[in-house]
Amino acid sequence: MIPAAFLDAVRASWPALRWQTDAPMSRLTTLRVGGPADCLAEPGDTETLRGLLALAQTHGVPVTVIGNGSNLLVRDGGIRGLVVRFGGAFSACGVSGSVLTAQSGILLKDLAQRALAAGLSGLEFAAGIPGTLGGALVMNAGAYGGEMSQVVESADVLCNGTADTLPVSALALGYRSSRLQATGELALGARLRLTPDDPERIRARMNDLQARRREKQPLNLPSAGSFFKRPEGAYAAQLIEQAGLKGRRVGGAMVSEKHAGFLVNAGGATARDFLRLMAEVQDAVRSSSGFALVPEVRIVGEDPDGGIL
Ligand SMILES: Cc1cc2nc3c(=O)[nH]c(=O)nc-3n(C[C@H](O)[C@H](O)[C@H](O)COP(=O)(O)OP(=O)(O)OC[C@H]3O[C@@H](n4cnc5c(N)ncnc54)[C@H](O)[C@@H]3O)c2cc1C
Repeated sequence: MIPAAFLDAVRASWPALRWQTDAPMSRLTTLRVGGPADCLAEPGDTETLRGLLALAQTHGVPVTVIGNGSNLLVRDGGIRGLVVRFGGAFSACGVSGSVLTAQSGILLKDLAQRALAAGLSGLEFAAGIPGTLGGALVMNAGAYGGEMSQVVESADVLCNGTADTLPVSALALGYRSSRLQATGELALGARLRLTPDDPERIRARMNDLQARRREKQPLNLPSAGSFFKRPEGAYAAQLIEQAGLKGRRVGGAMVSEKHAGFLVNAGGATARDFLRLMAEVQDAVRSSSGFALVPEVRIVGEDPDGGIL
């Protein structure tokens, strides 16, 4: 339970803040599963964010940070404490020369459109990734040969209430990993260094990548994209397909028939269905090929009985 004194203080301190209690996480994640967050807030500026975090600390309220929820599996019991969502209220963006500066709540597709409008190349790979800039920094999101590490010049982060600007070299961006995953620092925004190019050529590359996505990925069903990381020396989707798991279902969770690397919500799935299917896929792939698949999706929250499956 979240302390009433915390909620009272939120109400009194930030009358304009967007927040709610018992926020269904299934509406805020692309997998469309997950129980409620005790309290969800969407701050619109760094001062409010800082204040909220300090208040949470004072009241012993745990904090979970999310962006667009496109790489998140929230367990069915939901998330205890405060969920801070970086979204539209925290998504200012500006261009100066070849540098795009943006707050972390901006969607990558909007960021890619801003770059296109400014005649800047480098974010074509990101146009089809349904996350925010913050989530993309944390995950070092990438596709089709591009990834965040190639365009980030520096990022603004918040650590224990102190804001800092880190050059890309300090972010330790690796394959779907970053320093932020280890430290729990919050990404506030970033500066991206792009390359001037003809907007028509940029648009053509974006369209080509979007078409490739539509052809290969099950975009008609809720998912979190590739569920597992690519193991060294192999492709997760290929290993899953070779293990004969395409179309395998647990409840409403299913290994996509179109792309075996995607676990999709085929209708009415629960987080437990996804966790069971994930374990089944890992076991089958380990026995058939010896590879250990590690989820790329971040798993948060608790089971309905308060435990962790
Ligand atoms: C259809 C589909 C296709 C996809 N294709 C790709 C792809 O091609 N390449 C790829 O890399 N990914 C892909 N993804 C996965 C996902 O879109 C990316 O990982 C994206 O970067 C996640 O961003 P998000 O804002 O949704 O983050 P969330 O899912 O909300 O969060 C992801 C992680 O980042 C943390 N986080 C989020 N924002 C912040 C912040 N501001 N500060 C600190 N921590 C934060 C969260 O705590 C969590 O640990 C795909 C997903 C879907 C559904």
